[in-house]
Amino acid sequence: MSRTDAVPAPAPAPAPLALPERRLAGIPACAGVAIGPVFRTFEAPAVVTRNRIHAEDVAAELTRFEAAVAQSRKQLLKLRARLAVLPEESQGEIAPLLDAYLQMLGPSRLVRGVQARVRDRLVSAETAVMEEANAVAAALAGPADGPAPTRRNTDQAPAPSSSADTPAASGRSADTPAASSRSADTPAASSRSADEVREIGRRLVRNLTRAPFRSFADCAPGSILVAEGLRPSDAALIDPTRIAGVATEEGGTDGHTAILLRALGVPSVLGAPGLLSAVQPGTIMVVDGATGTLTVNPTSPTLTAARRAVDGFARERHRLGRLRHLPAVTLDGEAVALHANMELPVELPMIAQAGATGIGLLRTEFLFMNRDTVPTEDEQAATYRSAVHTMGGDPVTIRVLDWGGEKEIEALTAAGLVPEGVDANPALGLRGIRMLLRQPALLEAQLAAILRASAAGPVRVLLPMVTNLAEYRAVRIIYQGVAQRLRAAGTRVPDPLPPLGIMVETPAAALAADSLAAEVEFFAIGTNDLCMYTLAVDRAEAGVADLYDPLHPAVLRLIQMIVEAGQRYRIPVSVCGEMAANPQMTPLLLGLGSRCFSTNASSVPRVKQAVRGTTIDDCQRLTWQVMKQADPARTRALLAEFGR
Ligand code: PEP
Ligand code: MG
Repeated sequence: MSRTDAVPAPAPAPAPLALPERRLAGIPACAGVAIGPVFRTFEAPAVVTRNRIHAEDVAAELTRFEAAVAQSRKQLLKLRARLAVLPEESQGEIAPLLDAYLQMLGPSRLVRGVQARVRDRLVSAETAVMEEANAVAAALAGPADGPAPTRRNTDQAPAPSSSADTPAASGRSADTPAASSRSADTPAASSRSADEVREIGRRLVRNLTRAPFRSFADCAPGSILVAEGLRPSDAALIDPTRIAGVATEEGGTDGHTAILLRALGVPSVLGAPGLLSAVQPGTIMVVDGATGTLTVNPTSPTLTAARRAVDGFARERHRLGRLRHLPAVTLDGEAVALHANMELPVELPMIAQAGATGIGLLRTEFLFMNRDTVPTEDEQAATYRSAVHTMGGDPVTIRVLDWGGEKEIEALTAAGLVPEGVDANPALGLRGIRMLLRQPALLEAQLAAILRASAAGPVRVLLPMVTNLAEYRAVRIIYQGVAQRLRAAGTRVPDPLPPLGIMVETPAAALAADSLAAEVEFFAIGTNDLCMYTLAVDRAEAGVADLYDPLHPAVLRLIQMIVEAGQRYRIPVSVCGEMAANPQMTPLLLGLGSRCFSTNASSVPRVKQAVRGTTIDDCQRLTWQVMKQADPARTRALLAEFGR
């Protein structure tokens, strides 16, 4: 065609229809407002390293597969149960999809096909799942340009699989139950069903391989990260300069993922049911991490209000920044120590800027996350030394590894350090100090690294999840042995040794605080676990988040017992759980007798402001009122009134 040939200009594309604004409610995890396009993150593709198996491994492989099916069902049922909080029309949209997934995990073509592949072809469960899911999906999608295969009603029992090798041979979709509730006789519906099979295949492979971590490398700066759920090790990979906000369907207020997000200062809402079906990659969303609201496809007035809120947060941060050099002293002259918790090394500059006068809880889990090997003693010593050095003479409390619960740490599993069968009930299993006492070499290396770092400034050693004196005594013997070995090798170790204290974070430790205080050198009250174990409510579980209440009288009485035991035995007591970061709780904690708080860096100025605005007398009067209340709602009202 010559250049003079007139080519009709393409008709202007019709203006896209503005999608309706939609609001979703979740759990506020990190205050702040973010506006941006959705970046939908999936698990990193699972790396399947085991393809072939031996005939004698078939039974074990089938058991692994059954466990992955059970786990996948559990995850989906959990999501299904939480749909009740959504408006009816949203439930109507999402429920059939979850039902479809659940049905595929029943006695379906997919499940039988996987079992047959493992048995007949001697392939690993993950390989069998990938192959079978692809085969079933291909059969459902039909030939690329041909008509979709005719589908049979799923009310009929799925036809028995004649051969795992010929999924297309069955030419039906009895095991894609979405077909039971929606017509699937169109190419679009067939491709949707094929996607559903692939999605369930991915979930099974993820559960089989425990895919280690996600990568956010291709996330455009300023995006809102959206995921079904994030593990603490995923959250540790977030770069707060690239990711503006986070929204997930799973997760609770004081789980470690929420704690990490607060540490990074990324506005976040967790536990928002219906989120994944409400957004597409690129959808514009507003995250309000203070109220727990997500606004999808915001209208222009919503956007204007959100931008105003972003500016408001920035101004507030600036105003609080001015408190940095002022002392944390009550109006009647009582000094309070305000320390910072540290989850990740990137926080060190923020801790210095926040005006914290020490690190009250250095969680060492980060050193062990997102890697396949356990960090060496030298590596650990260098990291601890850098934190101690940065604090320039202010004390640094280093907690030894708190493995377990929701903190699954791949390096330990990869190094074969996790005994079999300990994760049936992880929060009540080999968590914290229990694990370290089973792996003394791990504990010794960590204690040695901390002692070596103590040459750079004052440190304290903190033990997680202690429930009895025997654990403390056992560690103390190991601690002294490590110090002796270091001295014998010519390393300078302080004499006396840096204080060795415990987290009081279980009802057992709280109720026995008296006998523990007689021997241990300091207490750090972990209100997150104390609340979880006292109330029997998982701190990271959205479905029971409304029951997780640190103002429950049982929790408050335990805190009071711990503080009083510490006072009686004259040992330092700090509060380092999330409760300490909430300025509304500050007068109550002061009234209970606490004079040292450790919080995420960004809360230090807010708590300082609360300390500087009150007197101990008033706090004690408030606490006297609060301790008479049976209803946490009334306590909340009293605290709010006090703050006005
Ligand atoms: C706690 O339990 O309150 C605590 C500070 O420890 P972590 O949150 O790391 O379990
Ligand atoms: Mg804890």
